This record gives sequence, C-alpha cells and structure tokens, in this order.
Amino acid sequence: MSSLRLICTPLGQSARSEFYKELKAMEQGRGVIVLPNRLLQEEAVRNGVECIGIDSLASKILNKNGYVSFNQINRRSQELIVEDLLATLVEQGALPYFAALSDKEGFIKAMTSLVGQLSRSGANQEEINAIFNTWGRDGQAGEKDKEVNLLYQFYRSYLQTKNWFDLEGKYRLAIKVLQKDKVQIPWQKIYFCDFYSFDGLQKEFITALGKRVALTVGLCYEKEAVDERAKLFAAARDTYNDLLLHGFVEETKPKVDANAFPCAKMQLDLGRDCQRVAATEAVQLYSFSSREKEVRWVLTQVKDLLRQGVSSKDILVSVRDLNMYNGIHATADEYGIPLSLPKTGKLSVQPVTELALLLLQAKADTHDGAEAYFKLLTCELGKLLFAADGEQADALRQEYFFKTRSNAQEKVHELMEDDLLARCDQFIENLPWSAVLSVYGQQLQDFVEQLQLEKHLGALYKEGRLPLTAVAGAIKAKQSLLDCIKALVEDYRRCGKEDLSVTLSQWQELLRDAVAQAELTLQHGRQDGVTVAEVTSVAGLQFAYVFLLGVREGEFPKANNENWIYSDRERKELKEQGPLTLDLPSTAQSYAEDAYFFGATVAAARKQLVLTFFKDDEAGASPYIALVQRLFADGEIENNPAKEDASPAEASKNSKLGDVAWLEQSCGHATLAAAMADKDRLQNEKLSGILEDDALQQDVRKFVGSGFNATGLEVYAQCPFRYLGEKVWKQSAFQAAEDVMDPRDEGTLLHNVLATFIGRHLQEKLTKYPLATLQDELSQDFAAASAALEEKGVQNLAIWQVEGPRLLQLLQRWLAFEYEDQGEWQGYTPMAVEWDFSSKNGKPLPLKLTDGSRVTLNGRIDRVDSDGQHVFVTDYKRSASAAPDKSAMEQHLDLQLPVYMLAAAQMAKPQLPVGGTYFVLKDSARKSSFVLSDVNNPGIPCKEEKDWDACKLAWEKMLRDYIEGIYQGKFAVEPQKCDAYCALKDICRYNVLPKVKEEGDGANE
Ligand code: SF4
Repeated sequence: MSSLRLICTPLGQSARSEFYKELKAMEQGRGVIVLPNRLLQEEAVRNGVECIGIDSLASKILNKNGYVSFNQINRRSQELIVEDLLATLVEQGALPYFAALSDKEGFIKAMTSLVGQLSRSGANQEEINAIFNTWGRDGQAGEKDKEVNLLYQFYRSYLQTKNWFDLEGKYRLAIKVLQKDKVQIPWQKIYFCDFYSFDGLQKEFITALGKRVALTVGLCYEKEAVDERAKLFAAARDTYNDLLLHGFVEETKPKVDANAFPCAKMQLDLGRDCQRVAATEAVQLYSFSSREKEVRWVLTQVKDLLRQGVSSKDILVSVRDLNMYNGIHATADEYGIPLSLPKTGKLSVQPVTELALLLLQAKADTHDGAEAYFKLLTCELGKLLFAADGEQADALRQEYFFKTRSNAQEKVHELMEDDLLARCDQFIENLPWSAVLSVYGQQLQDFVEQLQLEKHLGALYKEGRLPLTAVAGAIKAKQSLLDCIKALVEDYRRCGKEDLSVTLSQWQELLRDAVAQAELTLQHGRQDGVTVAEVTSVAGLQFAYVFLLGVREGEFPKANNENWIYSDRERKELKEQGPLTLDLPSTAQSYAEDAYFFGATVAAARKQLVLTFFKDDEAGASPYIALVQRLFADGEIENNPAKEDASPAEASKNSKLGDVAWLEQSCGHATLAAAMADKDRLQNEKLSGILEDDALQQDVRKFVGSGFNATGLEVYAQCPFRYLGEKVWKQSAFQAAEDVMDPRDEGTLLHNVLATFIGRHLQEKLTKYPLATLQDELSQDFAAASAALEEKGVQNLAIWQVEGPRLLQLLQRWLAFEYEDQGEWQGYTPMAVEWDFSSKNGKPLPLKLTDGSRVTLNGRIDRVDSDGQHVFVTDYKRSASAAPDKSAMEQHLDLQLPVYMLAAAQMAKPQLPVGGTYFVLKDSARKSSFVLSDVNNPGIPCKEEKDWDACKLAWEKMLRDYIEGIYQGKFAVEPQKCDAYCALKDICRYNVLPKVKEEGDGANE
C-alpha cells in the first residue's frame, strides 16, 4: 500500500469514519487526524481519536524540533510593519505609483492582505521576484507590479532580519524543518480529511510531510462530474490534481444507493442533467417577506421536531454568513431552543467600551465634548453606575446649548455630586493631548479597573435590578476590553513602536479599530444544543434534518473580493503566464467555494432538507434554488408559510395566552402545572406559609421548643417564611468547610482575643498603663488565640501568614480607639465580658406569653461596662454590614440590643441598663448606639431621654408577638427585608410572583 493515499468520496460522503476506524486500530500516539474546523474536531474527540488543526500541526512539528518559542506575529503587527515599510519606501521616492495612497488605512489593510496572498501562493520569495520581473508589463501597470514586488521583498527581508514569523513564515519554517536530515514528527500516520482545498503553501507543507510519514487525504471530489455538477467540485479540482501530481494514489469510494434515505437524490443528482421526479416532502423550499419571518418560521419547525422527540444532534441550522443572521440566538432563547452556537458579541458595542470611548471624546472642551460628557451619564453603563441622575442631566442638555464641555461639567456638578463622576472628571483632566501609546493604554486600563464593575453590578443583581447574564456579560466585556488594550500596546511594542507618540484622536482611532475587530463570547453554546453553523463548517457532516437559510440572490453565492490591488483579469494573467505562475485568490474562486459549500450542506441532509430565503424588491431566490428545482417535476416554492406560535410572547401578540391547551402544548405539562401552583398559592393562604392546622402548629411548637435567641427571632422579624424554611425545615444554605479562614473563624478569633484582653482589665481604666505595654499584651493574646485555633485545625498556615498581620493590625487599631475612648468616658469601666445568659448557664431571660406559658431567651453579651449604677452593653461586629443601623431597631428588625439590655437588667440588678452599641472592628468605630440617658461619653451622645420601663414593656411585647406568631404557624411570605442570598428564594418565589400587597408591605431590600 502506498504511503500517500487520496480517498475521494462522492458528494455528501466523507472518509472520516473510515479514518477513525484505522486510527483506533493503531497503537495510541501513532496516528492523528487533521480536520478543518471545530465541529469536526469535537466529533473526533467524541470518537476517541487524536485530532489537530493544520496550523497547529505546523506549530507542533516546529516545537518538536526545537522551535519552542519562535516569534509569531499577528495581523495587526503585519499591518504595522507594512505601514512602516510603505512610509520608508515613499520617503525614499521608491513608490511613485502608490505614494498618494500609502498612509490610507484601507490601502494598508489591502496591501497587507495582498502580501499574505502572495506568501500563501506556494511560490517562495525568489520565485515571486522572478514572476514579477518576467511579467513584463509596461507603463502604470508595470510600475504597480514593480512596487508590489519591492514591498513584498522588503517585508520578507524585514521579518528575516528580526527573526519574526507571520503565519506563512511559520509554514515555510516547518517545510524547512521537514526537509532536514533529522526531523522528529510525533506521529507515523497522518490523516487529512474534509478540507475542500489546500492553498499553495499548505500543499507544499503536505508534500514535505508526505516524505516523512504515511499520509492519507480524504477529499470530497467527483472527477467524472460534468457541467453544473462539476461546478460543485471546482474549488477542489486544483487540490485533487496537485495531490495526484505529487504521488498520491487515488482510491474512490462508491456512490450511495438512490433509495438509501429520503434525501439521497440531492447527493446523487444535484447539478446533473437527470430525469426529474415528483416533488417530495423530503426537500422543501420556502420564501418569506422578511429575514425575521424566515428565522422565526425555521426555528418553529425546529422546536416542533424537538417536541416530537427528534434529538437536537439530528438537526442542523445553517447559513452562509452568521453575521446576517445574528437574531438566531435571541429567537432560539425566546422559543426555549438550546443551541450549540456560542452567543458572541462585538466588543465595540459593549457598554463598557461605549463608556471608555465617551470618556476619550469628552476631553475636547467643545460642544461635542459636552455632548460626550452628557452621554457618559446616560449611556447604558452610566445609568447603572452613576448615582447622579441621568434624566436630570438629559434635561439640562436639552434646556441649554453648551459651547464647551467645562460649562456642561460645571452645570452638572451644581445639580449633583457623584464619586464616580468626580473620577471621570479626574480622568478627563489627566488625559494628555498626545502621549506614548502605552501611557494612554495604562491610563484607560487603570480607569476601567477602578470602575469596580464586579462590585457595583453585583450589588444591582442582589437588588434584583440586573439579571445575572447581564452582570456576567459586562464583566466579560470589561476583561475583553482590558485584554484588547494590552494586546494593542503589545503589538506596537513588538514592532519597536513603544516610544511612538500619538495624538489623542489617533489613540481614539486605534482603540476604535481594535475593539471593532475583537469579538467576545458572552455565553457558551450548549453541548446538547441544536447545531447552528455556517456552511463553511458543514462539509463531511450528516444530519437527519437540515435547514439552510439565506439561499438568497447576492448572499449565497457571494463574491468575496477581499483585495482590489489586482483585478481578476490580472490574477488570471499571473496564474496563466509561464513558466512560473502565481495562484492568487479570485472572484471565480470564491464563487467556486460557495458552490462547494452549497453542495456539501444540502447533501448533509438524510431525512429532510429545507431551503429558505427572503425576497424583497432588491433580491429574490439564489440560483441555487433553481439548481434544486431542476431535480423535481413540480418543485414549488411556498411563500410565507403559516406557523404556530412558538413562545408566550408570540401567543400574547396573537391573544392566545388564555388558551390553556395551547399553553400546555407550547410550554409542556410540567411548566404549566408549576404555573398553576403559583396561581393557587397566591389565592390560598394555606399554600403561602400560614399553617392553620392546630396539630401542625403544635408540631411546630414542639419542634422549635421554648428557648429562643435574638438572631433566630431576627430571621422571623425579617421574613416569617424564611424562618419556617431555615429553622423549621432546616433549609439553611449548606456551606462546605474550607481550609481557608472564613469570616466566622475570623470573628471567633477576634472575639476570643478581646474577651481575654478586656477580661484582664475589668474594673480599671486602660489609661493607667502605657499604651506600648498594652500593645505588647494584645499581641501576645492574639498569638495565643491564633495558636489555639491552629491546634483545632481551623487555620491554614500559608493563609495565616497573610491574614495574621492584617488581623493583628485591626486589633491594634481597636486598642488605640479604646485607649482614647476610656480616657474620655467618665465613670465607666468594663464590668464583664462574654456574659452568658443561657439555659446552659442556668441564667436564661424568662418571658411570659399571653397564654401564661413561659419561654426563655438565650445569648451571650460581648461586653458590659458599668458606672456602679448603670450598665452599658457592647456587641462587637467584624464588619459594618453585620451591624444593624438605628432604623432597624425602630422597625423592630434589630433584636440583639433589646434582648441584651433586657438580659443585662436581669443579671446586673439592681443596676439599670442605660444603653448599648454595635462596635465595628474593621472600622474601629461604633456604628450605631441606643441610649436612654447621658452616659458621659462624647462619642455616645444622647439626643432624647427614654424611660427604661416603657422600653422594657415595648420590647417584651415585641418578642412575645414574634414568638406567638411562630407558635401560631404564621409564616407568610411577607418579608420586611428580603435577602438576595436567601436559600429559600426558589421556594418562596417572592421575587418572581406578582405582589399581592404592593403598597406598604414593608419589603425594603
Ligand atoms: S427570598 Fe425573601 S421572601 Fe423569600 S423566604 Fe427569603 S427572605 Fe423571605
């Protein structure tokens, strides 16, 4: 058997599965398959064979032979180099033909693309030089050839001097390596499959590879095809001929049986002059009056198939160009159809990019600058981030004409103040009119980081004002923008332009251009989704159902005339002149490629093929539709076919939402049943947490018992249903133990240290000791408490080395506060720490309910200070978010201080409670305090005196009401405070169901 095999398969067939079999029969690591796209590569992986792309194959061979980190440049670097070379040659007077165009961006891009086409033609640098020199054209045309050749030679020499490689250079290097005596190749057998053609350079690479290992190429090609059928294979013809020329031995696979499957006629006869048959359900043609109708109709059919039980793996939705069909994802989401297609978006249209570009525009102290400044406040991201009122700003903008941005700024600040806006002002102020690119880049990156999108948008998500997908999208866009800026600066640095100074408007242009080219994946495609792919990726695949959209005139086929420097006629001349020829892509080639893609896509269908397009005054059916119609005696196109509603939005538009039968069919039985349950729940208290059954109430009473604590009752105060879920059903969020220090460990450690330290200084003022002595003492207490925790295995040593100093610093800051505070606090000294009023200690706080029964309240007070007649309680909180504010006490949501003061009154008799406070350790400050009368401390002022007995009665009543509510089974979903992280949120459905009590229902978060 030859070591160079060419397996030709007929239309719609691929040699891939045969290659898989051969690969699987080999010893692991001996063979690999090279495939042209992600869809095929994923399939190979699923089949358990090793696969690779052709560019990666070249890199792998280079790596294996010692080229581990060679300098490969990207397209932007290529453009920068071409731009520089053009400027140098123009300066030297060497480019009279192109001089006027040389600094135009479009020209630089076209010239860079031509340089790439020349490189990939298969001719090397010397051959290209010889071809241009022998072309021998006169006049302007001859001058153009001379200048193109000059630039190309300069470009290649420049890369050689720098030891840089573009993609073409990488292939050339790999070819050189393959020609060496000793070369290492990771595999002994390599299979190429489902490429429709190889360019000149790839053919050279494959030929060189074929001299080293056994190669097999699978190509879909029918050599005997004629007329229209032959056109379907025209794109592959040169590759077929060249492979034979280079010694590949052909094997041809037989055609399919005409009756093998319903769509077999497409494979067998497309493009042939053959007997027409009666139209069949298997091949359907439709036209629509708009693209949107086309997409909606197709996806409705897809949804219908899925509902009938067809697997998503059996369905393909294909288009020539996904950019023309970017609504597919949104409609599939609306219909609830999972897609394998990732959701992507252009970086240029992301809100964070818009904000960044507006900031740069706002630098101009002109009317335009003022407009950009206003837009900052009202753009999509601005509306979310600025506390300033965007609508007010818009009103300002409409009321006045601002000649300058600074006037606008002044007026905005008269009306509103906003921290972020102040930072924007600072950014604009510091933005230079010209600077080195890296300075501009760094300044913008810093600003984007400072926006703290994660924190701000996360908070909006918690408040239910922004869906999680929007937060995730914004964060991805932010990262993508930062990467894009970094890559832009890096490309300039790599090309030796790190010191290049650019003007602000050039920076804006560069950034605009860079973000326009960057795309980001906002959501990954689903593994179990319907395949949506461009026709370029479909060759060699097979599906039961194929929907091909956009078979429209001018769209498919479509000429891809990427480069205008040489016309098709000139390209033809270059290809046909001898003895050396240059094969550059042409319009005819791009049509031939489209014909190949069309043939491959329609031949992928087994059970059903549906071709659609939309027609308007500008265009109608593609000639491909006629090609299909020729197969059938009566192949009619159906216009605007009717469709079922496929989403609630469509049903509501057609007033069908009341139709339960339709809803059940459309949403499925389970969804409808769930919706009905929600409806019942809204109408029936029993289903909303009110336990009316006596026996059930008794069970709850038995289960929760008669001992309560302030924290548990606070849960009930904030949301009775949450109490039911967390304390009765025990549904608290499960938190896995971690070896890192979590806030609870941190809180325990801090409490332990404070208890030890203050416990040693009861009934005395710290001010009688030097502060330094106390600081040492505190450090020792901290070390001892940490050691105790470590012994219990709570601490992770590595983390402790980082966290330890931070916590000690926090404690030392507390000591500094305490030292000063005790100095100012007249008459009071610490009286007790960790004062335990629990049943365990035999001192719970009793409370009598209205039915005469007795319950107890339990807890532990962090610290009690006393002047001999009054006691003052302190509760230490690690961070401000854990400490309630004053309003929480007024709203009966904060129960800790009331319970602690009631307990202190009992334990410290005859002393009376005078107040209490929450001390936030992270801030070294009291966050909120409650006092009945003056406590002689300027830091704890008393604004209004209160009567202890009245407070006691009110608090006892409040506690009694809550406990009796629990015993009476009152667990309504009526939160005073709804926590975004509540573990019960999927059960209570508070955030998704309409609110029965809209006004005054008390929910404040
Ligand atoms: S999500 Fe809100 S309403 Fe629902 S149980 Fe939790 S706190 Fe209560």
